[in-house]
Amino acid sequence: MKRRNIIKGLSILPFSGSIVAEAASFHTPIKPALAPKRDFFKELGVTPVINASVTMTFLSGSLMQPEVLEAINSTAHDFANMYELQDKVGAKIAEMLHCEAAMVTSGAACAMLLGTAAAITGTDPQKIKMLPNLPGPRPEVIMQKSHRYLFDQAVTTTGAKMIEVEGAAEMEQAINSNTVMALFFNAAERSSITHEQFLTVAKKHNIPTFLDAAADVPPVENLFKFQKMGFDLVTFSGGKMIRGPQSAGLLFGRKDLIAAARLNHSPHEAPIGRPMKVNKEEMFGMYAALKAYLERDHKKEWEDWLQRTKYIGGKLETLQTVKTKTVVDPGPANAFPSLFVTWDQSKIKTKPEDVLVALKTGTPSIVANSRNESLIVGVVLLRPDQIDVVANRVKAVLQQAMA
Ligand SMILES: *Cc1c(COP(=O)(O)O)cnc(C)c1O
Repeated sequence: MKRRNIIKGLSILPFSGSIVAEAASFHTPIKPALAPKRDFFKELGVTPVINASVTMTFLSGSLMQPEVLEAINSTAHDFANMYELQDKVGAKIAEMLHCEAAMVTSGAACAMLLGTAAAITGTDPQKIKMLPNLPGPRPEVIMQKSHRYLFDQAVTTTGAKMIEVEGAAEMEQAINSNTVMALFFNAAERSSITHEQFLTVAKKHNIPTFLDAAADVPPVENLFKFQKMGFDLVTFSGGKMIRGPQSAGLLFGRKDLIAAARLNHSPHEAPIGRPMKVNKEEMFGMYAALKAYLERDHKKEWEDWLQRTKYIGGKLETLQTVKTKTVVDPGPANAFPSLFVTWDQSKIKTKPEDVLVALKTGTPSIVANSRNESLIVGVVLLRPDQIDVVANRVKAVLQQAMA
């Protein structure tokens, strides 16, 4: 009996112990710098990677800004009503982006799904409940044939059917009573309908317009451009160059559509967007990311990127026959400078693809790119301390291949 009581008493010890520790920490703050650092990469045997490329989902997007980590850490200790949080965060983001309404989604793909769902269901609870299995003809979303891309599956997941058109006249002809939305892929390589024509046709027939600009900052101006043009809904990824949580994104635009999109999302229990929940910390984090991004000195950041390409280029050009140039991608996606590196392959006997393999499999692991005969070294996602590491590794790999 006694023993059992002791065990019973013991079972609450770790709990009360942690309360004591926490209470104590109010008086003697623990300095994180002094605490032994737990290395989760090591613990799980995951290889940390240096991203000398662009934001890529498989490579965990981007590194969150310090403000985002601050938001995540400092809000993790209290509960919040998720409806209120989405209200407040959405209102603030809408204010920052000069539009009617906004919400945080779990990435741009989720925003595409929710925007389409909103266009289909409005605020009708019956339709919201039934999606994607509505009775009657399938809702139709109009899109330019040359704009079809992998991500449009996020649209058809709602049960909507894609209607491909070429040219403004065909777009207008395609509109009928089943048309719920028109989707514009901002970074498409070719367009048979301009943004303006697209908006004119859609507005004439009262069709909501959705623009996917997921990867289209910089320039920061793009965050304002398309709602001003007249698009009803716009999305950007949170986890690309805005450097918010990878699993967050922005959906913003018309108030009625954002309200409908929210009804199709968590924290509501059952709608189509429920499996795409955004947690409290990510909502605060997305807000912090956007705020920090808007407040940043973009000119200075651009100068810094150019300095990086110049610096790495200078180091590499100390090798015979190596030539480098800074190339700014024309965008709209990934519109920033990178370093293109070429060499005489009869003197340095390796191809750009082989250099990529050597960088990736080396220590530290570095992911870069290549195009034709150029090695492409991305600089915008490097931490300051990684600039030298990348320059030295690329140089060493090239040096090794010298005849
Ligand atoms: C990255 C991307 C998406 C998906 O964005 P997530 O935030 O990863 O969901 C959609 N469309 C385009 C054009 C993108 O580049």
